[in-house]
Amino acid sequence: MKDTPSPTYVELLNDFNIEKFVQSQLADSFDHGDAEDPFLVCDLGDVVAKHQRWKTEFPRVHPHYAIKCNTDTVLLKTMMALGTGFDCASKVEIKKMLELGASPERIIFANPCKQKSHIVYAKEQGVKLVVFDNENELFKMKKLYPDAQLVLRIQTDDSASICRFSMKYGADPEACPQLIDIARNLNLNVVGISFHVGSGCQDVNAFVKALQNSRKLFDYAKTVGYDFNLLDIGGGFPGTKDVDLTFEKITSVVNFQLHQLFPSKQFPHVNVIAEPGRYYAASAFTLVTNVIATRQVARDIPAEGYSDSIDSVRNGVTPTANEERAYMYYINDGLYGSFNCLFFDHAKVTPTLLDVSAKQSKFSSSIWGPTCDGLDRIIEHMLMPQLNTGDWIVWKDMGAYTIAAGSSFNGFKTQKVYYHISDEKRDLLTKLADTKVKGVEFSCFASSMCCQANKKIQNLTKKEAAPKDPNPIGENTEQPIPVYM
Ligand SMILES: *Cc1c(COP(=O)(O)O)cnc(C)c1O
Repeated sequence: MKDTPSPTYVELLNDFNIEKFVQSQLADSFDHGDAEDPFLVCDLGDVVAKHQRWKTEFPRVHPHYAIKCNTDTVLLKTMMALGTGFDCASKVEIKKMLELGASPERIIFANPCKQKSHIVYAKEQGVKLVVFDNENELFKMKKLYPDAQLVLRIQTDDSASICRFSMKYGADPEACPQLIDIARNLNLNVVGISFHVGSGCQDVNAFVKALQNSRKLFDYAKTVGYDFNLLDIGGGFPGTKDVDLTFEKITSVVNFQLHQLFPSKQFPHVNVIAEPGRYYAASAFTLVTNVIATRQVARDIPAEGYSDSIDSVRNGVTPTANEERAYMYYINDGLYGSFNCLFFDHAKVTPTLLDVSAKQSKFSSSIWGPTCDGLDRIIEHMLMPQLNTGDWIVWKDMGAYTIAAGSSFNGFKTQKVYYHISDEKRDLLTKLADTKVKGVEFSCFASSMCCQANKKIQNLTKKEAAPKDPNPIGENTEQPIPVYM
């Protein structure tokens, strides 16, 4: 089946520099109503670079982007252009990809425990690959979708992962032969094995063990008449640089194990896929928040270093000469929004301040979200120069499990995303774009319309001395480059 993409209008910023961009926002922020709203900046070039790195490091493994990680439409379109598949876990996720034009063959329905109506929807739409991990799911599939291509998800040892899944999903490898027998007796079509080592995996042996178990089950399946053709090694690949177990370390170990356990000669028909989420999304997005309120508080100078206790920052006490000043900053995104990653994804975030010099004196500071909940605290304590209302705080690596799970509790939700891509990465995207994926309009990146627009449009970074723009940046139709993806 062909991909039938729907056009998406994207305003692409030219020659992007985040500091300059933020400064131009700042200049406008008090004159234009919502110009102080928080926003995200997405570097599509980062996604392209990640994909190139994947292809280099993992030539045998075809990525199926786990869309739950970040369902930004332009990101998904870029992934479509790059030719990846997609891991969807629900009817809505499948629908989203189909509406964006992905063919059902590119989708794996990777949720082992599914609602009946979602199974029926997958069947109606021709999404064939469906994951299961228990007996009841097999009976459900027999009744609702007997000719699905079933993938058995096995448990992994995820004890060294930050976000663990195996207490919830995956069949015990010891019990898998029995499950395979049941599927056989039900005359169901099991085509392969999948696993997920957990997010933030710190121990590469989790992959080794899971691959060994997979091979055992490939062998077992053969004895009951199946010839598996799919091996799905899941997600859990790091998307940022601040990790102990690097992507390259994982790929070198996994490639070696694939070579040992699933040599291409012996398994030429086996399609090896993965379900990376954070790998693609994490570093592509930068969140920019505005300081909407500040509060000066007193903090007793701690006797020995800094105490971690929240009580060390006392609210509402006027500082005296004997006390060190401390500050509380309230910004317009928080734990109920993009920073839900602190809670659900065990993420660590670091603020980047603009326009500060090392010489400025620093004060104990805490950073809080905008909702009325006391739990909505992003940074408990950090030494920072003094900030003012209207200042911007930049947060890098905010693409994975951030906006995807953020709520609009109390009326706050970061909505606006600005996109950019460097000329070099745009060329790379055109080169990498999978020409075999019929019907996907990736060529827009190199289209003459874009290039002309490119020349006409004033370079954002050269605008410093220009008089104040009557329109806030981004809403000014003259500056962004319109692109159809
Ligand atoms: C969440 C999830 C992924 C993606 O995990 P990352 O750590 O973001 O790579 C992949 N597969 C399944 C089944 C998932 O639930």
